[in-house]
Amino acid sequence: MLNYRNGLDRMPSYDTTEQDWKIKVNANESNLGLPPLVEERVLSRLSRVAFQRYPNLEYDMLCEQIGCAYGWGKENVILGNGSSEIIEKIFYVFGGDATHKIVYPAPSFSMYKIYAAASGAQDVVVPLQEDYSLDADAFIQAVNQNNASLAVLCNPNNPTGNVLSIETIDYIAGRIRCAFLIDEAYTEFCDQSAVSLLKKYDHLMIARTFSKAYSLASCRVGYMLAHRDIIDMAAKTYMPYHINTLSLTTADTVFQMCAEFEPQIQMICGERDRMQEKYKHLRGVTAYPSYTNFILIHYAGACALNDELIHQGIGVRSFHNAPRLEDTLRISMGRPNENDAVFRAIKDYVEART
Ligand SMILES: *Cc1c(COP(=O)(O)O)cnc(C)c1O
Repeated sequence: MLNYRNGLDRMPSYDTTEQDWKIKVNANESNLGLPPLVEERVLSRLSRVAFQRYPNLEYDMLCEQIGCAYGWGKENVILGNGSSEIIEKIFYVFGGDATHKIVYPAPSFSMYKIYAAASGAQDVVVPLQEDYSLDADAFIQAVNQNNASLAVLCNPNNPTGNVLSIETIDYIAGRIRCAFLIDEAYTEFCDQSAVSLLKKYDHLMIARTFSKAYSLASCRVGYMLAHRDIIDMAAKTYMPYHINTLSLTTADTVFQMCAEFEPQIQMICGERDRMQEKYKHLRGVTAYPSYTNFILIHYAGACALNDELIHQGIGVRSFHNAPRLEDTLRISMGRPNENDAVFRAIKDYVEART
């Protein structure tokens, strides 16, 4: 018998097995790829990479560029292999044992539970209300009564798609004293970002990613903005040279050229609004309001519907019997023809059964 770490066998795993989908709208990636101008610049820079060297200047340059763009310095930025790595590290930084409590709502990003367990901290889950909105006062109370070390909100929220206003984030931040992480993986698809609140609160952290709006899921790059003390503590948890030069160089180019992505982002938001209207009018289907690049729908026969979609080569995200997400499907926005094809498949299925 191998002597594994305590509790590891009970840790849930995140399933990333995939099949070769005809239409893949299950992971909230961009289906559009890099804009041609950006791709050209990326390839030209990659052809000049010093393959024999560890990444070094590239890391600082990207931190500097990101910090500057928000009116901060490079000492206020930390990068990760996807914002996932940063979020995992922040759970580790504020975790350690059961006296460290981490508060987050549910349903929200399923990885929070896994990171909390891995960090050794005790998690405290605040249930969202019937319509998936957050009761801000209940959240504040859970944080304060448990004397939490970390509070986490995903805004806009995955997988429910809804968003908290900056006023609400401000309200919460002003009433809790522990570290407060806002996961803004989908912020480019809405007009609410808590970045401006960093000036007001030194316990606030904002995590962002290149994987969604910036079509760069392949490179695994994310960043976090925060006050220097938090960044310095988080930096201690990383191995040296943790992001490779190819990803850093690519993300650097993408960040420099982020204006090139505006038309794509506009298109995805337009598609989301268009498809939301269509799903809303399907009998038996509830489409939740979304401020992201995906739509969550509820349908009483969602599991069987998902089987039919799989049969047709369409990959959406089914939550099966996850608590509070029973009979829901999350559909990422792709190109207009892809969105129409997914809708048609769902409509045909649903209408044949009413
Ligand atoms: C996609 C996603 C992330 C980060 O993804 P990375 O690819 O690791 O940057 C973080 N939080 C949420 C809620 C997400 O949906």
